[in-house]
Amino acid sequence: MTQPLQIVLIGAPGSGKGTQAKLLSEQYGIPQISTGDLLRQAVAQRHPLGLEARAIMDQGLLVSDEIVLGIIEDRLSRPDAQRGFLLDGFPRNLTQAKALGVVLRKTDRTLSCVLLFQVDTEYLIQRLAGRLTCPQCGAVYNRYTTTPRFDDQCDLCGTTLRHRSDDNEETVINRLRVYEAQTEPLIGFYREQNLLKEIDGEGSIASVFKRIRQAIDSVHRKPARPGPRRARALNTKPETPRKPRSTKRTIRNKPRRR
Ligand SMILES: [Zn+2]
Repeated sequence: MTQPLQIVLIGAPGSGKGTQAKLLSEQYGIPQISTGDLLRQAVAQRHPLGLEARAIMDQGLLVSDEIVLGIIEDRLSRPDAQRGFLLDGFPRNLTQAKALGVVLRKTDRTLSCVLLFQVDTEYLIQRLAGRLTCPQCGAVYNRYTTTPRFDDQCDLCGTTLRHRSDDNEETVINRLRVYEAQTEPLIGFYREQNLLKEIDGEGSIASVFKRIRQAIDSVHRKPARPGPRRARALNTKPETPRKPRSTKRTIRNKPRRR
């Protein structure tokens, strides 16, 4: 039996982590589990932890690690997560990472790998702080990358584009600082366990996705897809006894190695 694919995704806001998580979820047929979505669902389904979380959020406070962990544990116990999972946005700090380890051990599970999205800070600032949206049709542009044809005007409907106040450079830099401070110990923690896979997160969605798949395939062996030669052998001689075949191979390979 193959091990379920159990992955943690770490990446700064704007790193493209969420987009890649969706693609990975489709590619490998495992659920993308994001704490934001989970909290919203838990509230909607009137889950006791969800209601507790909402009461806390209503007071403008942050939901505790304990509640988030309870919701994650509950989610991981569902049938679809038995084939594996992609944790997106959790753990966010060292405490949560250690707690996740405890939850997984309880059910005899281990992480396959932790994917760290590496994106240059300048690039993140441009991506986040340069964002312009059309209040009329919702189109999204970027001052640095996908500029509108006419200054601050929507290509589609001509409305003046809006720049959100929490997208300004100072706020963005602050968000990135908080992210770095929280995740640095987390990265060290997973690096020590040899689980960390650093992914170059710059470039097209397709090229980043390819890098991720290579990283995953290097740690997670799927049942080997037979290559053409092996497939032929399997089709024509399904009952070939193992011993003679391996002897032949050794003999055939020997001269080549010299
Ligand atoms: Zn528009």
